[in-house]
Amino acid sequence: MKAVLFEKFQEAPKLVTVDDPTPAVHGVVLKVAATGVCRSDWHGWMGHDSDIELPHVPGHELAGVIEAVGKDVANWKVGDKVTVPFICGCGSCPECHAGHQQVCLHQEQPGFTHWGSFAEYVGIHQADLNLVALPESMDFATAASLGCRFATSFRAVIDQGKVSAGQWVAVHGCGGVGLSAVMIAAAAGANVIGVDLAPAKLKLAQDLGAVAVINGGEADVPEAIREITRGGAHVSLDALGHPVTMTNSILCLRPRGKHIQVGLMLGDHAAPAIPMPKIVGQEIELLGSHGMQAHRYGAMLDMVASGKLDPSRLVGSQISLAEAPEALMSMDSFRSVGATVITRF
Ligand SMILES: [Zn+2]
Ligand SMILES: [Zn+2]
Repeated sequence: MKAVLFEKFQEAPKLVTVDDPTPAVHGVVLKVAATGVCRSDWHGWMGHDSDIELPHVPGHELAGVIEAVGKDVANWKVGDKVTVPFICGCGSCPECHAGHQQVCLHQEQPGFTHWGSFAEYVGIHQADLNLVALPESMDFATAASLGCRFATSFRAVIDQGKVSAGQWVAVHGCGGVGLSAVMIAAAAGANVIGVDLAPAKLKLAQDLGAVAVINGGEADVPEAIREITRGGAHVSLDALGHPVTMTNSILCLRPRGKHIQVGLMLGDHAAPAIPMPKIVGQEIELLGSHGMQAHRYGAMLDMVASGKLDPSRLVGSQISLAEAPEALMSMDSFRSVGATVITRF
């Protein structure tokens, strides 16, 4: 099969031909129909993820059709149209037994713990636990965009943030995760404030339901949010993963507010200074949010089917597998508005 592979961190990935994968006994092989290019892939390529063994094929935001099924798989067959959370549970640890596969103790992540979907085919383990059936009406590019950014935001806003109608929600960073969070929080009835440095992303945030936007390059962000909300946001997300957005997110909250860290903080940003006096004095909650388990996809997909959520609006450019190395390497420049998805293989 064709695959985009890198042999050294930070060295340009190449389009090469490698052996086709075979399914594990409990797994499947998917023919990849669409796969998103994500900043997490960039982190992996930079060498920030200790799970990655070289040579490596990235790609974790995928949708496709089942091509081959392992002998122990009960619920899936060749030809099924599916997607998968980017964190796959093992099925046998206490977290998996409790339904929290997103924090599985032995989790696998295609594109990190094993070869991913920047390829014609990808192997997925523990298929009965981790695969999600796609509605017939959903196109593959949209489905690929669900698996990481959109599902992550759904869990952050709905399951972790428990956002409710009338609350003020601030979203710091309006890339793929942030714009998804804006749309989801607005659908939940919240008043959403989007923050970014790029006017085009702020415009999109408004189109997706933000009632106010703030250009972080021109304003004191926490001050501006406290003013708009008359006292601070109830829930605030760092959707980027940077010390500045994290700090702004904590400082913009009202007493007893919730900060949700969604953006990854790795490399030089792995141990940021946290404004602890506010956390203690105002009883601020700090929560992480990490993907979303397969069994919660139904709630999200029902909101997509009913038209309350429209993830297709977040799909940006569609590119070929041959264009993936360039797209991956430029992921840290934040140029693209909407998700870049590989749809030609
Ligand atoms: Zn991703
Ligand atoms: Zn597990």
